[in-house]
Amino acid sequence: MSRRDEIRARIMARVSIDETTGCWVWTGPTSGTEGRGAGYPRMALGGQTVAVHLVMWTNEHGYIPGKKEIDHVCRNRLCVRPHPDHLELVTRKRNAIRREQAKRMKCEEVSP
Ligand SMILES: [Zn+2]
Repeated sequence: MSRRDEIRARIMARVSIDETTGCWVWTGPTSGTEGRGAGYPRMALGGQTVAVHLVMWTNEHGYIPGKKEIDHVCRNRLCVRPHPDHLELVTRKRNAIRREQAKRMKCEEVSP
């Protein structure tokens, strides 16, 4: 088994596939419940704690350029599916704009 296959297998062993949304939902540890960086999938890899969705994306598509980030298009932070409907490589700016839009939409949902 190649290292790529090995990493994918390790991740998939802790993923639950959501048939409705198509999300690959991480069932392992996360970055916690508080703060802006909370709720993201975490795993130990080569002695380091890493973000699983980033590992998954890199494993399938290669390294993430410095000014780019991975955005959850499906808005499910626990999703680790390296597919453009779920994880997409965007510029940091684009990601911030999307985050704002998502926040605004949430506010509209809860206001009467
Ligand atoms: Zn997803």
